[in-house]
Amino acid sequence: MKTKSTGAPRHTAENTRAVRLSGLAVGPGVCVGIAYRHEAGSVSVPEYRIPPGRIDREKLRLAEAADRGSRQLRNLRGKAQALPGAAGEELGYLLDAYQQMLSGSRFLKGAENRIAERRINAEAAVKEEMDAMAETFAAMADPYLASRASDVRDIGWRLIRVLTKSSYRPFSLLPKDAVIIAGDLSPADTALLNPKAVAGMALSTGGADSHTAIMARSLGLPAVVAVEGLIGQVRPGDTVCLDGGTGEVVIDPDPDTLADFRKRRADFLRSRRGLGRLRDLPAETKDGVRVRLMANVELPSELEMARESGAEGIGLLRSEFMYMNRAEVPDEDEQYHFLKSIIDGMKGLPVTIRTLDLGGDKLADSLGLRDGPNPALGLRAIRLSLARPELLETQFAAILRASAHGPARILLPMIASLEELEQARDLLDQVVRKLKRRKDVTLPATLPPLGVMIEVPGAALSADSLAWACDFFAIGTNDLTQYTLAIDRSDREVAHLYNPLHPAVLRLIQFTVEAANRARIPLSVCGEMAGDPKLAAVLMGLGVTELSMSATHIPLVKRNIRRLSLAETARKANGIMELNDARRIAEAADSLLIDGGISPNK
Ligand code: PEP
Ligand code: MG
Repeated sequence: MKTKSTGAPRHTAENTRAVRLSGLAVGPGVCVGIAYRHEAGSVSVPEYRIPPGRIDREKLRLAEAADRGSRQLRNLRGKAQALPGAAGEELGYLLDAYQQMLSGSRFLKGAENRIAERRINAEAAVKEEMDAMAETFAAMADPYLASRASDVRDIGWRLIRVLTKSSYRPFSLLPKDAVIIAGDLSPADTALLNPKAVAGMALSTGGADSHTAIMARSLGLPAVVAVEGLIGQVRPGDTVCLDGGTGEVVIDPDPDTLADFRKRRADFLRSRRGLGRLRDLPAETKDGVRVRLMANVELPSELEMARESGAEGIGLLRSEFMYMNRAEVPDEDEQYHFLKSIIDGMKGLPVTIRTLDLGGDKLADSLGLRDGPNPALGLRAIRLSLARPELLETQFAAILRASAHGPARILLPMIASLEELEQARDLLDQVVRKLKRRKDVTLPATLPPLGVMIEVPGAALSADSLAWACDFFAIGTNDLTQYTLAIDRSDREVAHLYNPLHPAVLRLIQFTVEAANRARIPLSVCGEMAGDPKLAAVLMGLGVTELSMSATHIPLVKRNIRRLSLAETARKANGIMELNDARRIAEAADSLLIDGGISPNK
């Protein structure tokens, strides 16, 4: 096995495989590290009948495995505290609940009975009990109880892994400079990665604007997704070179490649330090037009990066990450303290808090969400919040209370009709009235503005009526592209067809900008388009003056803005609107990247 610590004669041209793979470049940065295979999947379970005389021995094996599993969890509990932000605490609660399930629980007793009654081995008994219990939970009407099904499965698989001696290596046991290699990784799991401990990430599935990719960018992790052939090629402990700007992944590199990637990394770090100098300069075009650059944030640990990058506020706080990696829904007080800490942390700069946008690829055990037949089109985002108004009420109350501490805006995700906006506003008004009756609560003198995400084609086409009924727009180009072109944004098979510069997407953006202007409401773009310097220029050419993006992209976008003239940019954007051919549109957009050939991480 080749690892960093083994030293000696590695990486000679003769003894290396130098497997070159490529995928979608989604997280700027370059790294050289050690492969860490993350397996979310299961292990194969041996199943056999046992003679009566062996029943006690199997029961003992089960009890020992439960003990061992419990010790592992205790160990993890300690390590969870080292995770950034609230994630450690949340993971801690979950691990406590798991530990309880491994000591004298109904689950263990059930498995024990199966060993005796069905005369089967411990692994098979655990599997049968796990399946039966998980099925019972999943069928329950109460969403909280239904969500226990996944906990039962987690614990069941842990026990089976201990019994079969299959390795289970959670993120907290990562080697130094680990490069996470996986088939897929959920956004919730990605949020658990500690960017200080992880060097980079490569996945064999995914799309450029999937939430997993966005999360990796927000954490500042070099990342490549949709890498074909990845899993079959990587062995644990292999050295991996990864360039999140070009999408290259090299496994077991030869000495020249290794040197090349180390140089790329040094160049990248130097260039990032150079970009740091832009921090206090305005995002102003050569002809004096000021653009406001804001940060998209998922976790409190990203605030520091947002401030360091010179963000002029938070244009999108994806509040749903607060609900992930935990067993319970956060209550009003917890949400209030969380939001207050973000508002305090931004020191007077505006914070745009989007209400819960769960569903689709963002699932949360705490809400017991299950995949419907088509998760991207199902009960998600505002639909979920209106179907379970107690969730939205609690969230509104927490946001209103937190907004007494600094400027905040409320943003509703995935609005598709005026009725949804009106229902949400009615609920907000009710919550305001309730809070005014509470003695323990202070509200701000001016209530936060209520805005709408434009990310569904139907909303873009209804932009005029929505604009008159809300206070601001934020265009979500990720979902707008996904829904306009019917391309799942996290599906590798169709990733090459996902194109925010498609004329249909651009027309919907243009129409929305015009509607906002007619109603004189502010508009921003907070989809990933805003964080790509040349696509940001196209947006500016269409009249957008506020852009919100992963903090790591702010300096790059700012540098390009300072090299552009808006008059010229608008002329080119108008030219793009006349075109239908994807290649010519892409070429015209390329010409808006002043300096030519600069990828987002160079
Ligand atoms: C979007 O859809 O563009 C957006 C900003 O929201 P999210 O990426 O969280 O779906
Ligand atoms: Mg969206």
